[in-house]
Amino acid sequence: MRLDGKTAVVTGGGQGIGAAVARALADAGASVLVSGRTLSKLEVFANKLRKEGRNVWGAACDVSDPAAITRLAAVAKEKLGPVDILVNNAGIAESASIARTSLEDWEKMLRVNATGPFLCLQAFLPDMLERKWGRVVNVASVAGLEGARYISAYVASKHALVGLTRAAAAELAGTGVTVNAVCPGYVDTPMTKSTIENIVRKTGKTADEARAALLATMPGGRMIQPEEVAAAVLAQISDESGSRNGEAVIIDGREA
Ligand code: NAP
Repeated sequence: MRLDGKTAVVTGGGQGIGAAVARALADAGASVLVSGRTLSKLEVFANKLRKEGRNVWGAACDVSDPAAITRLAAVAKEKLGPVDILVNNAGIAESASIARTSLEDWEKMLRVNATGPFLCLQAFLPDMLERKWGRVVNVASVAGLEGARYISAYVASKHALVGLTRAAAAELAGTGVTVNAVCPGYVDTPMTKSTIENIVRKTGKTADEARAALLATMPGGRMIQPEEVAAAVLAQISDESGSRNGEAVIIDGREA
């Protein structure tokens, strides 16, 4: 699949799934702006890809800050021109029982994982509508479709993101802009590494036992690689994917 001439923004694009998506988009010929809170990390990543001949840039943006999203849209327009592809990937995950989840933690999770993608969609949609072509992919989670213990705020935020995906898909049907979601199980990234560290800290399990406990929830019995999520994201972006709208594709090794 080629995306020459297309422009893309990937939030949380400096590591993990976002970095794999950014690399896959750039390999397909798109010009890509990766964003996140830590500019130094983004610049190291973008410089490395530019040295490989890819057109990738970094820009700081905390998606929990509406003003920062407005600035990101302006920087993207300046660096890339109108944006064709938005991948709402930035996200956080923390675990606690319902009793131990503070209002602050709850609101933070909703703000980063659901409100941020909503505001990014609002910021980038006008140019997509004007050009009658756009692709928005939201990186949700299996937790956006199913409940799980000790992650109520995360589950609620990802359900909200899947809900936003479906509502936007319905509202934008026929405009040339599609909105889809991918819903991975556990992926081999720094986020999962810190989940394992958290289980070790809270339960006294060894890292191997904690990893095995996560894998027990995966129908395929193994961790997903970030590149597998990137491949699913790209499948929702191609020109030929114009009729795929409002999907929430599970990626955890289960039978389709
Ligand atoms: P990760 O390795 O922790 O990377 C998360 C990225 O999001 C980082 O680049 C981080 O960069 C950025 N980020 C965090 N908070 C941000 C904020 N407020 N504003 C802007 N950027 C922010 O996580 P990952 O595993 O690649 O996860 C990526 C997405 O996939 C998340 O939405 C996650 O919920 C989802 N997901 C992950 C898994 C999994 O098992 N790993 C499974 C299903 C879904 P900075 O720290 O520099 O801001």
